[in-house]
Amino acid sequence: MKDLKHLLYLENLLQDSNNDLVRMAKEKGEIAIGNVCYQIPEVLLNLPGSFSVRMRAPNTTSMEMGTYYMTSLTCEYCRAILERALEGSYQFLDCIFDPASCSQLADCMENIEELGLGNGEKFFVQHVDTPMKDDENGISHMTRMSRVRVLDKLLEVFGIDTSDAALRKSVELHNNVCGLITEMGQYRKLEKPTITGYEFAVFTLASYCCPKDLILPCLRETVEELKTRASDEKKSYRVRVVLAGSEIDDPTFIKLIEDSGAYVAADRFCFGSFPGRQQIILNDQEDVLTQICRENVTECQCPRYMNTSKINGRKEYLDKLAREYKADGIIFQQMNFCNFWGYERAGASHIISQEYQWPVLSVDRPYVVGNSGQLRTRIQAFVERIELKKAAGR
Ligand code: SF4
Ligand code: SF4
Repeated sequence: MKDLKHLLYLENLLQDSNNDLVRMAKEKGEIAIGNVCYQIPEVLLNLPGSFSVRMRAPNTTSMEMGTYYMTSLTCEYCRAILERALEGSYQFLDCIFDPASCSQLADCMENIEELGLGNGEKFFVQHVDTPMKDDENGISHMTRMSRVRVLDKLLEVFGIDTSDAALRKSVELHNNVCGLITEMGQYRKLEKPTITGYEFAVFTLASYCCPKDLILPCLRETVEELKTRASDEKKSYRVRVVLAGSEIDDPTFIKLIEDSGAYVAADRFCFGSFPGRQQIILNDQEDVLTQICRENVTECQCPRYMNTSKINGRKEYLDKLAREYKADGIIFQQMNFCNFWGYERAGASHIISQEYQWPVLSVDRPYVVGNSGQLRTRIQAFVERIELKKAAGR
């Protein structure tokens, strides 16, 4: 396929957390807010005068210092983030919001706070409690935390406008971004898709890591480009998969999967588009913040939600995605030492395979996948397994 005009530009932006667009927004005097998890609604951090940056550690080679502070038996994403913080890579951030969703993430953020790794007098790390059930109590708890721990803090420290009008404006911007990402993602349903899973991941990830208003022109032009982009003559994959699990903030992992013959038709992982890139439709009846939190809590697919309907709902959600995106199988991946996905992967991969009858590959992986020969071999074997199953008419 012909190269997408903005792909290389975005790939380069993703090489650095403090990228050109982030610096441009900072030069305009905007507040840069570090964000590490879906559970703090992104729209609360993208109010007029502020923008969120999903924290990553691109091109990580060593985590020695992160490991020293957090031990070698903790999540590599957290250790890589701490390592970068120790190197001073997040000095451009004005604050970080950390949900109490994951204790390892909380440890990482406490280290950043206690070791004084932020920059500026006003820098703070704010811990935000999040619910474990998606019932009305959970929604009301999330709404209160969002008001007290997020909005009030932004108003108090930086004087950011947190009115309903400002929230609505942020939702409008979010919806513009999500509408375009969703439109791009639809091309993944084609028999001969006109966007690769890798390309889609680059655009999606950039939308989490760059100021939304500055990334919009690239997204708009790409959507126009995709309307006439021709697919390759020959089908470019052997099987189609849904990729699920914990954080993937490096699109080269998706490239590795696609190079091994499996087209990534849908992305159900943190930093992906399901969930995270759906529009928020507001009404005029209910309080705006409650609506935002309701959407966040009900759409969240994080294994930390432990009520039965959520636990079952996660499998139903995956099954639905796999059907909608015409997948042949599902790959569950889990960051090494991630507790939540460790439990979820073990149970869900069995249920998805036995009860929903999907071929499943279940792997744990390091934060830096690189060109892992071991993962490549396992994915190739999975592709062959699906092909044999199809050939046998099963
Ligand atoms: S798995 Fe859960 S806690 Fe971890 S980043 Fe995703 S939403 Fe947050
Ligand atoms: S991968 Fe798991 S342990 Fe690591 S931050 Fe995400 S939820 Fe926490």
